[in-house]
Amino acid sequence: MSLEIVVMVKQVPDSQEVVIDPVTMNLNRSLTRNVTNRADENALEAALQLRDKVGGRVTIVSMGPPQTESTMIECMARGADRAILVSDRFFGGADTYPTGLTVASAISKLEKFDVIFAGEESSDSSTGHVGPGVAEFLGIEQATYVSKVDYEDGLIIAERELEDGTEVVKVPTPVLITVLLNANIPRRQTLRRKIDAIRRGIEVWNLEKLGMPPEWVGVRGSPTIVRKMRSIKEKERAAKKIELDQIPELVKELYEKGILKLEESQ
Ligand SMILES: Cc1cc2nc3c(=O)[nH]c(=O)nc-3n(C[C@H](O)[C@H](O)[C@H](O)COP(=O)(O)OP(=O)(O)OC[C@H]3O[C@@H](n4cnc5c(N)ncnc54)[C@H](O)[C@@H]3O)c2cc1C
Repeated sequence: MSLEIVVMVKQVPDSQEVVIDPVTMNLNRSLTRNVTNRADENALEAALQLRDKVGGRVTIVSMGPPQTESTMIECMARGADRAILVSDRFFGGADTYPTGLTVASAISKLEKFDVIFAGEESSDSSTGHVGPGVAEFLGIEQATYVSKVDYEDGLIIAERELEDGTEVVKVPTPVLITVLLNANIPRRQTLRRKIDAIRRGIEVWNLEKLGMPPEWVGVRGSPTIVRKMRSIKEKERAAKKIELDQIPELVKELYEKGILKLEESQ
């Protein structure tokens, strides 16, 4: 048995270094240091562990501008076998709907796909829409918030972390799985694999290759419109150091200000 495994990966701006274009209200990615979305590193590791156990191939698919290539090389240096960058100026300004539709369209062009992995959410827009959206567009099963994946008797066994416990689901392929941030420890890149990845290169697929109408993708295909953005000023907080014998006085002060409430003992 061998599985054709796909990992959806997004390149995101590093932590707080976010620059917004004041006119278009879009993210200005060229002024920001970009990194691989951290939950996608966990999705990739889950995919590599599955391939190493069952056999098969791991293909990275990402929609993004040309600089996304650095993330794809990084994924191959960690162990992915193939990388497809879905890139075209028509895709720019996409909200989650055309992002999911475009990524699903690219995956549907692969000869075969058994398991698709995505991160639970991105660290920049953080909607968590894209993974489940791709499953819906492809009309396949999905398992979300997954911490552990196994494969037995032709079924994917996924452990889902819920608020009140863990749920184990057995799902037939093809299936899409969203992997929780910190679900595993991603393996390191190796220099040998990185050199090999640069030598093999990345496939770039454009709108023509996907055969999608231009009005379905990018900003034209996006139902969301950002009208306004504003910065929120954080309240200033001051620390106060007190001695032990001042505690009763402090409790009294907090009680009088209504910050501390005393409950009657039963
Ligand atoms: C009106 C509007 C305009 C926008 N304009 C722009 C813009 O101009 N440029 C821009 O870059 N963003 C833009 N965005 C943000 C864009 O919608 C999201 O970055 C994108 O749709 C993914 O959504 P998300 O980050 O919430 O992903 P989530 O749904 O939180 O991501 C979950 C998982 O889906 C996968 N995934 C997400 N995105 C991709 C991708 N692109 N390729 C492969 N896998 C992916 C990853 O595995 C990720 O972990 C805009 C958003 C809105 C609402």
